Amino acid sequence: MSIMVPSKTPALITPGRQALDSALHQLDQAAGHLGLDDGLRTMLATPRRSLTVSVPVRREDGRLDVVQGYRVQHNVSRGPAKGGLRFHPATDIHEVTALAMWMTWKCALVGIPYGGAKGGVAIDPAVLTTRELERLTRRYVNEILPLIGPEKDIPAPDVGTDEQTMAWIMDTYSVNAGYSVPGVVTGKPTTLGGSLGRSGATSRGVQIAALAALGRSPEGVTVAVQGFGKVGAPAAQYLSDAGCKVVAVSDVSGAVHAAGGLDIAKLRAYAAETGGVRGFHQADALGHDELFELDVDVLVPAALEGVITEANAPRIRARLIVEGANGPTTPEADEILVGNGTTVVPDILANAGGVIVSYLEWVQNMQAYTWSSGDVELKLRELMLGAFSEVTSLAADRGLTLREAAHVIGVGRVAEVHQMRGLYP
Ligand code: NAD
Repeated sequence: MSIMVPSKTPALITPGRQALDSALHQLDQAAGHLGLDDGLRTMLATPRRSLTVSVPVRREDGRLDVVQGYRVQHNVSRGPAKGGLRFHPATDIHEVTALAMWMTWKCALVGIPYGGAKGGVAIDPAVLTTRELERLTRRYVNEILPLIGPEKDIPAPDVGTDEQTMAWIMDTYSVNAGYSVPGVVTGKPTTLGGSLGRSGATSRGVQIAALAALGRSPEGVTVAVQGFGKVGAPAAQYLSDAGCKVVAVSDVSGAVHAAGGLDIAKLRAYAAETGGVRGFHQADALGHDELFELDVDVLVPAALEGVITEANAPRIRARLIVEGANGPTTPEADEILVGNGTTVVPDILANAGGVIVSYLEWVQNMQAYTWSSGDVELKLRELMLGAFSEVTSLAADRGLTLREAAHVIGVGRVAEVHQMRGLYP
C-alpha cells in the first residue's frame, strides 16, 4: 500500500492511517505554498527508513506474547533523527510515520539541528507488570539497535512511556556498547544525565504558547484540558499558576468539571493515587465529548490524535485551541474552525517545548556538562517565543493560518537543506 496518497478505502482507514493522511495533507499544502517540485515533495512525503520488528515478551505466567514494534526515521537531512517512543495498543506503522514526519517539521521550525523520528510498540502498558514492561522495552531496543545512537537517532518519552523506560533504553544501549552512553535517549532521570526542566518542558511550552496567543492577561481565562498525563497535567498546572481558571480536564478514566476552577494540585494527587481523574470529589462528572463543547476560552487537547473532527468541531466554543497533543485536529475540522474564527496554535509549535529541552539535554550529555534549571528555562522560552513570533508574522503577512505558516517554515527549511545538499550519487 502506497503511503504517498491519502487512503480512500474505508476498510483501510485506521486511526493511524487517518493521522498519516492529515500529515500528508498538511505537507501538500505547505509544498504548494513553497512551490516545491514533485520530486522534492515525494522525498519529503516518504520516510527515510522504516523498521518493523516483532517483539517477543515473556509474561509472568510463562506465556509468550509477540507484539509489533516500529521505528521510523522520516528525515535526517538536518541532523540526527529525534522522536518519542509510544506504547499504545492502537499504534501502527502509519501513525508512527505521521508522528515522525511532524517531528521533522517541528525540529526545523524551532531551529534545532535534528531530523524527525518516532517509535511505537502496539501494547497497552497498563496490562503489563513492571518486569514485563522492562523485558519488552529491552527486547524492542535490541531489535532497533542498528538504527539508534546519539549521532543517529535519539528516542524520548511519548504516550505510555516515561523516564523509567528511557533509563532501560539507555542501559540496554550502553551494555551493548560496553560503556555508558547517556546521549542515546532524552527525558531520562536526572541521575542518569537527564536535564533539569525536561519533565515539564512540553507543558511549559504549551503554557508559553497559550499565553502568547492569548495576548491579554490570563487572569480568569477559562481552560479545558483533554488528557491528564505527562503533557496535560503539568500544562493544566502551569496555566492555573499563571492565573487561568482550569474548569475541566479528562483522561482515559473520565472527565471532571468545576465551574469555579479545579484545584489542579489536588487533582494531580488524586489521579496519582487512584489512577485517574474520575470520581474527584471537588468536581462534577462530565462526558468525554462534553469537554470539547464547554463554553471556555481555551481548549488544550493533550491526549491523542484525531480527536477534533468534522463531527465535533462545529460545537467547539473555545476561541483558542492550543495543541499539546500531536495531530489532534483533522484537516476537515481545521477548515470548520477557521470558518468559525477559532485560532489554533498547531502541535508542531505548541508542543515543541519537549523536543527543545530534549535537545538541550542531548547537548549537555555530549559535553558531559550540566546547566541550571534557570538556564534551561531561559533557552526554552527564547526558542518557543522566537518560533511563535516567526509563525504569527508569516501568517499575518501571507494570510495563512498558524498551522499553514508553521508548516511553510518547517517544510521550507528541510526542503532548502535538501536542495543545498543535492542528491547522492
Ligand atoms: P501520557 O501517556 O503521559 O498521557 C496521555 C493522557 O491522555 C493520559 O492521561 C490518558 O489517560 C489520556 N487519554 C488517552 N485517551 C484519552 C481519551 N480518549 N480521552 C481523554 N483522555 C485520554 O502521554 P503524553 O506524553 O502526555 O502525550 C500526550 C500527547 O502529547 C501525545 O499526542 C504526544 O504525542 C504529545 N506529546 C508528548 C510529548 C512529551 O514530552 N511527552 C511531547 C510532545 C508531544
